[in-house]
Amino acid sequence: MSDKHVYFFGDGKAEGNASMKNLLGGKGANLAEMNLIGVPVPAGFTITTEVCTVYNDKGRDYTVDLIKSEVEAKIKETEEAMNAKFGSKGEAFPLLLSVRSGARVSMPGMMNTVLNLGMNDETVKLVAEKSGNERFAWDSYRRFIQMYGDVVMGVEAEDGKHDPFEIEIDKLKEAKGYELDTEFTPEDLKTLVEKFKKVVHDRTGDDFPTNPWDQLWGAVCAVFDSWNTERAIYYRQMHQIPAEWGTAVNVQAMVYGNMGKNSATGVAFTRDAATGEDIFNGEYLIDAQGEDVVAGVRTPQEITVEGSRRWAKRAGVSEDDRKAKYPSLEEAMPEIYKELDATQQKLEDHYSDMQDLEFTIQDGKLWILQTRNGKRTGSAMVRMAVEMLDQGMIDEKTALLRQEADKLDELLHPVFEKKALESATVITKGLPASPGAATGRVVFFANDAEEWKNRGEEVVLVRQETSPEDLKGMHVANGILTARGGMTSHAAVVARGMGKCCVSGAGDVRVDYEGRTFKVGDRVVKEGDWISLNGSTGEVYEDKVATVNPELSGNFAKIMELAEKYTKMYVRTNADTPHDAQVARDFGAKGIGLCRTEHMFFEGERIIAVREMILAEDEEGRRKALAKLLPMQREDFEGILEAMDGFGVTIRLLDPPLHEFTPNDEASQEEMAKELGVPADVVKSKVESLHEFNPMLGHRGCRLGNTYPEITEMQARAILEAAVNLKKKGKDPRPEIMVPLIGTVEELKLQKEIIDRIANKVFEEKGESIDYLVGTMIEIPRAALTADKVAEVAEFFSFGTNDLTQMTYGYSRDDAGKFLPIYLNKGILKNDPFQVLDQEGVGQLVQMGTEKGRSSNAKLKVGICGEHGGEPSSVKFCGTVNMDYVSCSPFRVPIARLAAAQSAIELDK
Ligand code: ADP
Ligand code: MG
Ligand code: MG
Repeated sequence: MSDKHVYFFGDGKAEGNASMKNLLGGKGANLAEMNLIGVPVPAGFTITTEVCTVYNDKGRDYTVDLIKSEVEAKIKETEEAMNAKFGSKGEAFPLLLSVRSGARVSMPGMMNTVLNLGMNDETVKLVAEKSGNERFAWDSYRRFIQMYGDVVMGVEAEDGKHDPFEIEIDKLKEAKGYELDTEFTPEDLKTLVEKFKKVVHDRTGDDFPTNPWDQLWGAVCAVFDSWNTERAIYYRQMHQIPAEWGTAVNVQAMVYGNMGKNSATGVAFTRDAATGEDIFNGEYLIDAQGEDVVAGVRTPQEITVEGSRRWAKRAGVSEDDRKAKYPSLEEAMPEIYKELDATQQKLEDHYSDMQDLEFTIQDGKLWILQTRNGKRTGSAMVRMAVEMLDQGMIDEKTALLRQEADKLDELLHPVFEKKALESATVITKGLPASPGAATGRVVFFANDAEEWKNRGEEVVLVRQETSPEDLKGMHVANGILTARGGMTSHAAVVARGMGKCCVSGAGDVRVDYEGRTFKVGDRVVKEGDWISLNGSTGEVYEDKVATVNPELSGNFAKIMELAEKYTKMYVRTNADTPHDAQVARDFGAKGIGLCRTEHMFFEGERIIAVREMILAEDEEGRRKALAKLLPMQREDFEGILEAMDGFGVTIRLLDPPLHEFTPNDEASQEEMAKELGVPADVVKSKVESLHEFNPMLGHRGCRLGNTYPEITEMQARAILEAAVNLKKKGKDPRPEIMVPLIGTVEELKLQKEIIDRIANKVFEEKGESIDYLVGTMIEIPRAALTADKVAEVAEFFSFGTNDLTQMTYGYSRDDAGKFLPIYLNKGILKNDPFQVLDQEGVGQLVQMGTEKGRSSNAKLKVGICGEHGGEPSSVKFCGTVNMDYVSCSPFRVPIARLAAAQSAIELDK
């Protein structure tokens, strides 16, 4: 921890810069950087994230003491840069401040910004006098009390009611017969200020603080407090952000977009965040302040003429009306627009990435309040990277590193079927806020969304507008529909960040929270009704509209081509059917890392033969039943080997305990008895005899093959006959037979002997032979610990990290649901180890197993086939231990390919 806790920026100077995000937060680092490159930014300072950590450990008094003199000095510098005075008594224009949170990464769960800090009964008069605009002064004052009261002092709406400040506003409007807030006179605003102060007193028992310094410390500490709100913690968990990072606090001189017709405020993107198109775009409002644009209260106007025309077309507004009532900034303030356009270009060039910026125009002067790398949809992410590569802004490695593996996921998801769309009924239309196709049942509350989702329902969250409280609900919903708010509303921005389909600002939608319905004209849609959203067009459909898989060409193909160029590992898939194998192959899978044979045991007549085998009294009976299974298995393997022709196919021998194939309830047992022509109590007693106290550690895996070698014989024969048959048809089958769950090399040795013996027999019978491998899964810690011995027999290892995690932690996969969520909540675990590979513990076994295995068998092929094989951070770990391949489910293949390439690039650095 350094001695410096506060960093100044302003007037083209700054103590920080863009590389200091960890210390200054993203916002603070960029405010500093913008000053350094000559972008106009109101002066101010950043209190570091380290101070947040001190605050959490040592509390308020200690922290204020620690940084007090530094803050006082930086206020002085800010006063000089802005030519104003904090707590002015009339000697200068009062310096008013904005206090903003800012973590390393942007976090919607954090504290809202407090604007106009420094206002009190005296400064408001000075502001009125010195600006010559009394209305503006009092409006700023009442906004300040409202924000500070809400954010810092915790004045909240009572359940189901309006915010108490808004109630005062509505009352006064009604009494005066006003339609709009803008009709308030300065006298009205003075009345409101008094009423607001009373609200604060009534609600909190405290007077509203009048001393600007008290106000400042209150706001700074509130930012630190907001780091540990439930919302912020939830967001951190969702995005794996460590609690130790902390947030910085940015204190900055206010500039005003609400000083009249020559002032404005807005949000802009240097490229289209939804589609990735290289087109400057954004929204603004004249004579407005702060969050008016994102709050969705007034309809914002477009920044460029082109955007404005597109908007008018969508909204059905005529060109004359558009020009008169909703002109673009380009038309309304052409000079400022030019400066803004030049600035956005400068910022994008400087950061070599799409920027999301906030600006304010104060009486004809442009100020930039924030810039950051803009959130974007998956398809925009891909398109921007490819186009920036073509434009020479970034190189190939950067283009690859900039792909967020999880976001690629969006591109792999379905879109609406064209045919189904033609006959679908459009209920209404909103803004295409975040693309994709979503169908689900309507819910109106975030809590319901979670509850419904938990019981297996698909939901679409419908809201008047969303706020950070709705985060959890948005996360679990398939899509989000809001009645209010523009393209930069909370719902739109958050949904794009999550890669979630969203239609915002569907103005015809009338939400009735109490009745749990929404209306569009006469049509009533109830809670639980199905609707479908098209986030790319803004259309909302009745019912569930059918979807199809997306096309993976163009920019996506280009990114995959780059991944191929830089990757060192290849990607296989976990697939049990020719269809899945083909899907994965189309996504670029090079082989199968795990084909589970037991999935083939359940279908149709097979289960009868399997049960016959289980019931058999002796080996002869088992062999008879197995003989029935043989042709069916052979056919399965022919299909799957053919679908993966030319690539390795790892087939795992029977793994689950046998009781999984027998029914538990009496009725089904009787049915089974009938099917097999045996008395019911025979079945019953067999089922009882198969019962185990801990089946996961019981009679399963190679323990089956070693007690009933005839099962291994049959499976080996089916695989090898299938391969030979294919070879005779001119194909190139490459089976790799995998023995599951070994703990000692002897278990593998015995199984390998059987397989090799059967292979020789088959080759002799058929007069044709093929190459095949015999290897094992490493999923018991002992196998990893003795990997050098195991590798003397095995030709390949495949880390079965599901079981390996289970046995390393001693957590039963089937029962961990009872305590894992609590462990995650309490921070005992950072991640669910069944989803994200535990690199520290399980990872050691993986690394040791790989190294020891290769030490005794240099040709050993090593891969992973647990769920982790499609999880980006786990894939990267596999790269660091030099695995040959990872294997994952078909739809994760592109994500794994990307993560593998990123891993290679990062390791190369
Ligand atoms: P967020 O992280 O939610 O974007 P910000 O800290 O950027 O929050 O603040 C929200 C809004 O407050 C900004 O969009 C801007 O309009 C307004 N604001 C922040 N700082 C200032 C300032 N110095 N002067 C005027 N308005 C400001
Ligand atoms: Mg551009
Ligand atoms: Mg902002």
